[in-house]
Amino acid sequence: MNKANLPIKFSIKMPLYLIAILILLLSTSACKKAELPIEELIHGEVYFMGNGLDENPLIQTLTDTTELQPYLDILVNVEALESYTDISVDLTYKLTLQTTEETLSYDIGFDLGNKIGVAHDSTGYYPVPFEWVDLYLDAYRIPEQFTHLQPPSFTLMMDDYVISTGLSQEWYLQPTPSTLYPQFYSIEGYELRTMETLDFTLTGLFDRTIPNQIRISITDNMNPSNVIINDYELEETISTSVFPNLPKPKETGDYHYEIECTWDKTEKGYHGTIKYMFNLIIEMPTTYQLNSNEIIPTYEPGDSMAILIKDAKDLDYRVETEAFTKTIGLFYFDENQTDLVGLIPLNSRTKAGDYSVMIYRDSTNELLDSIDYTVIPKEFDSQQLTVSSSTASLKSSENREKDNAKFGDAKSYSEGSKLWEDNFLMPIDKPYRISTEYSMIRYVNGDTESSRHSGLDIAVPEGTPIKAANSGYVTFASDLIISGNVIVIDHGLGLFTSYVHLYKIHVEDGDFVEKGDIIGEVGSTGYSTGPHLHWTVWKNGVYLNPWKFVEEDPLAAFSN
Ligand SMILES: [Zn+2]
Repeated sequence: MNKANLPIKFSIKMPLYLIAILILLLSTSACKKAELPIEELIHGEVYFMGNGLDENPLIQTLTDTTELQPYLDILVNVEALESYTDISVDLTYKLTLQTTEETLSYDIGFDLGNKIGVAHDSTGYYPVPFEWVDLYLDAYRIPEQFTHLQPPSFTLMMDDYVISTGLSQEWYLQPTPSTLYPQFYSIEGYELRTMETLDFTLTGLFDRTIPNQIRISITDNMNPSNVIINDYELEETISTSVFPNLPKPKETGDYHYEIECTWDKTEKGYHGTIKYMFNLIIEMPTTYQLNSNEIIPTYEPGDSMAILIKDAKDLDYRVETEAFTKTIGLFYFDENQTDLVGLIPLNSRTKAGDYSVMIYRDSTNELLDSIDYTVIPKEFDSQQLTVSSSTASLKSSENREKDNAKFGDAKSYSEGSKLWEDNFLMPIDKPYRISTEYSMIRYVNGDTESSRHSGLDIAVPEGTPIKAANSGYVTFASDLIISGNVIVIDHGLGLFTSYVHLYKIHVEDGDFVEKGDIIGEVGSTGYSTGPHLHWTVWKNGVYLNPWKFVEEDPLAAFSN
């Protein structure tokens, strides 16, 4: 066989040539042929007939008796089949055998699915060994012939929207057990698909409430045996089981998908791995939410209201409400820096009524949204307090000024990220007695003017350990005239706790404390009538109800 003469060029664009010949093996009255000796068979040729357009290429020449003998034994010196059957022919060859007298010509067809070979000439039909097909397939590579064994086509849909993908594949056609056609190729790059929220047709696509909108479909009956979905940039596996749906991104951001599909080696005649790659730029619509699950959020005086601007496009926002007239600071709430959060403290004197939070584009004053909320009335008890004249004299304006000077900017700077975790701890373990409640209306030594108690007085013996109610940075740890020994912890986003009248301080300014760390001991220093911890929670100078922080993280409603 002269391989150098094999015409290898084969147009990929040729029409798919897959003929199904109904071969009726008629029960012919086959005439008995005269036996042909091998010496008279001098030459043979095999042509591939699979190409309907080009010249049919020669794929084998038979010159010596060893090569010619099987053809003589199987085709020439035998009788044609007497029965008939139907076969579906996938490949057709032409065989010519030249004898000293004449040239014999046979059509040879192979049914790859049923592994049958048959030859045919004017005298009838002859079974040929199926193994012959391996020789021919190997001699003339014709993967295009096996369309049913080609890599499956893959469609990625977002609703009825087709997403283009990049591709790399390693694919093997194995039409017969001993023939293997590897196919490798890759398409560099992948299409970027932007989900513009302003585009009407796409806005609905990323409704967060509808799961699994990205669907994958594969050529019929070619579902892969294994699917892995990766983020190829983070090199993280997103899913190994969700197919044909892709887990939908929940956040604005860039997503880099690689879907690796594997088709195991089976009897089907193909196996391989294909990686489909694509990027998604997801832009979720901006939404505004208060830290309440109620339809009309309801708060009490002393509550910490909070707003979440989810999928904020930038920092150009301003939030206002009648119940808190100072600037409401907005901070990033997530690692991707797409969400903004702001704490809005409602002081204990906030009047009951209906209010709104207004969200503006800061640079243009455009009103973007408003959210209604209700403040319900809350009664606070009153208390008559008697203190000694020496204690009372501590609260002089002179002392207040000195304390303020020493306190300095301990209140003015807060970390721009949430340092606290979950709900706050009571800083004193049980048993304890609450000697004065939050915001109790207090009359001192018979005065007609009242004041509000800024925190919670927890009465326990001197020396009782005090825990950090939550994690944060110590911004003050020193003694003051009115408050005595004081610790202030910044929990970030403008939220602070303070621990007042301490006997001992165990931390220093600048320390980071974890929730539950022992930071000091209960005492009765400063303006105090006996050992207790005066514990306060505040933001922007507004004292908040500590019990609410013990019950729940004020931002718990945003954690999903
Ligand atoms: Zn107190």
